[in-house]
Amino acid sequence: MEMVPSIPHVSAVQPKIDGFFCPVCKKESRQFKPFPPKASRQRPNVQCPHCLSLERHRLLRPYFVHRTNLLSMPIKKMLHFAPEPSFAKIFSKSRFIDYTCADLVPKKYMPKETLCMDMTAIQFPDNYFDVIYCSHILEHIDDDIKAMSELLRVLKPTGWAVLQVPILRKVTYEDPSIKTDEGRLKAFGQRDHVRIYGLDYIERLRSAGFEVRIDYYGQEISPEQAEYTRIDKNEGIYFCTIP
Ligand SMILES: [Zn+2]
Repeated sequence: MEMVPSIPHVSAVQPKIDGFFCPVCKKESRQFKPFPPKASRQRPNVQCPHCLSLERHRLLRPYFVHRTNLLSMPIKKMLHFAPEPSFAKIFSKSRFIDYTCADLVPKKYMPKETLCMDMTAIQFPDNYFDVIYCSHILEHIDDDIKAMSELLRVLKPTGWAVLQVPILRKVTYEDPSIKTDEGRLKAFGQRDHVRIYGLDYIERLRSAGFEVRIDYYGQEISPEQAEYTRIDKNEGIYFCTIP
């Protein structure tokens, strides 16, 4: 018989065929919401109605707990870009995290202490943070290599970063001559995206100076648990350190 999967906050709860479970807020729902709310490429049943987590957040919460020291000793200085409220709440409340969050233009739903900061010009000294988490932001930034090198600069030599982007192609597609919202929507699928990343994303991170390991943590989760929590088993987690 197959072992009970080890995903935390899920393994103690038996999968039901008539509902879903969110490992971020630990609540059950009969159904998750579709996301994005209005788009041709909407994914059905993916957003937790309680904490608004998506597939990637439900994968990362147990990953952070089981594969990193984020939510355990020692105390770490953390930088969280474009803070998702469900994660911001967990990180800012943790006694193991000295928490800083930032966004180019802080939004109403973000914590009120969110700093206004450009990722290509981070207002912190070199070697300052132990942990950086940035999810689905680099595809919005014109000079993503500059942003990556800034992240590298402020990361301590012993630190680590999880830098996630949507990967939808084999080779990254970008075209700086496309400057209008409509043009970007047509070319990149969203008005505020400036490229579509491909599998060569890892090479960009490496070219900025990171050592990168792709963790396929989702593959340790059984198909039944993945469906119960609506996790994409095949999503890679880009775990970056300094060589
Ligand atoms: Zn939730």
